[in-house]
Amino acid sequence: MIPVEKNKEYTVLINSVSSDGSGVAHIDGFTVFIPQTSIGDKIKIRIDDVKKRFATGSVIEIISPSANRRDIDCEHYNLCGGCQLRHINYDTQLEIKRSIIENAIRRIGKFGNFTLNNMTGAENTNRYRNKMVFPIGYCKNRTVFGFYAPKTHDIIPLSDCLLGDAMNKSINNAVIEYMTENNVSAYDEKTHSGIIRRVFTRTSLKTGEIMAVICASTVSLPAAEKLIDKLIKVSDRISSIILNINTEKNNFAISENNVTLWGKDEISDSLLGIEFTISPQSFFQINPAQTEKLYKKALEFADLDKSQNVMDIYCGIGTISLCAAKKAKSVIGVEIVERAIEDARKNAFNNNIQNTVFYADSAENIVPKLINQGETPDVVILDPPRKGSDKATLSAIVRANPQKIVYVSCNPATLARDARFLADNGYSLTAAQGFDLFPHTAHVETVCLLSKLHSDQHIEIELQMD
Ligand code: SAH
Repeated sequence: MIPVEKNKEYTVLINSVSSDGSGVAHIDGFTVFIPQTSIGDKIKIRIDDVKKRFATGSVIEIISPSANRRDIDCEHYNLCGGCQLRHINYDTQLEIKRSIIENAIRRIGKFGNFTLNNMTGAENTNRYRNKMVFPIGYCKNRTVFGFYAPKTHDIIPLSDCLLGDAMNKSINNAVIEYMTENNVSAYDEKTHSGIIRRVFTRTSLKTGEIMAVICASTVSLPAAEKLIDKLIKVSDRISSIILNINTEKNNFAISENNVTLWGKDEISDSLLGIEFTISPQSFFQINPAQTEKLYKKALEFADLDKSQNVMDIYCGIGTISLCAAKKAKSVIGVEIVERAIEDARKNAFNNNIQNTVFYADSAENIVPKLINQGETPDVVILDPPRKGSDKATLSAIVRANPQKIVYVSCNPATLARDARFLADNGYSLTAAQGFDLFPHTAHVETVCLLSKLHSDQHIEIELQMD
């Protein structure tokens, strides 16, 4: 018997926060997820949806608020969905993220004793994103930039997004002004008519440079010089204006076809002293200030002294590989996206790093091959996507018998699952630490160290099991 009914109202107490940032309450033992609530909130809710094992609801009234609440500083918070924890004070956000990691390691990984360090929080909890995409369209017959209303492609006008650079607002306004003054239409994906699809910006933390990318459905822009003129007046931080062309009848975020309208083709940023060039579609970490802290910890866990061979699996544009290369004998990087590997090789060359080799292939295909061919990494670093790694890759790592495995993860659940596999195959979870790369959202990054158990430790464990 499910004790709740759709559209009915209930009064509940929020007693935890789930891994997607929703508050969790129980009605007669039945789990209900309620977004934008906080532990300790006493609230009246309406049930929106009922499934077999849980329901979802929304807040009608806060009867007594949690002590962990803070004033919401964004007028779009209710509708936008980009942030999930903005209503909770930052220290509590960090506690929530730490407990998400702890629960995953305990419940999914089935680890009893382990060291989980405190979360590393961010100094800047706003304006930390170096990449933002703003759809352009119409709202009440006015050309606007904004965000998509939940589950639709209707654009809701945005005044500013606090996660991105403060300059984005002026850049977007300049584009809207240019469109209005020159009769340039916004693209309509239903009728495949109109020109401007979206504005996309990338900023460099190191240099302050901004790249403004105008995504359009045509190979050139009417009166492009007027747009350039407006944009360069916005800020002298703008060093690159790019037209990104997608003439197809789809709405892909960004195409491969770029024309530089003004300034540079690429901007650059750095991580731990290594320079990276960034083109409109390059991968680059979204929050470099926090990424540096995370990489420092990963390298501290790896404990390199120029004598180790390192394998960096799921290496992206080689950011961790190149940082590790300075401290290692050699680094092999593996990544499935060919363009990312081209960038990794280019970045190695530009930084005069000569002890790296990069392979564009899937980890599950190339890692077993490399190990079978006799590669013997002393340290393996892996940083897989949300779905985690896989048996083929992890088994090959175990066969290679590295002393240390440093696992960087954006999903505590798959991290815990993979760490359990490694623990069952001769590694101990020595330390773990969370990093907040995305304040006000439910995302959490973790770095773990798994160390090879020595044969005497093996015996000890076997004895204990007897
Ligand atoms: N280590 C990088 C990127 C990590 S994101 C950094 O710190 O920036 C995870 C990466 O794994 C992405 O670049 C993605 O393209 C890659 N990837 C996803 N599936 C893969 C697979 N099966 N084999 C190899 N790489 C994969």
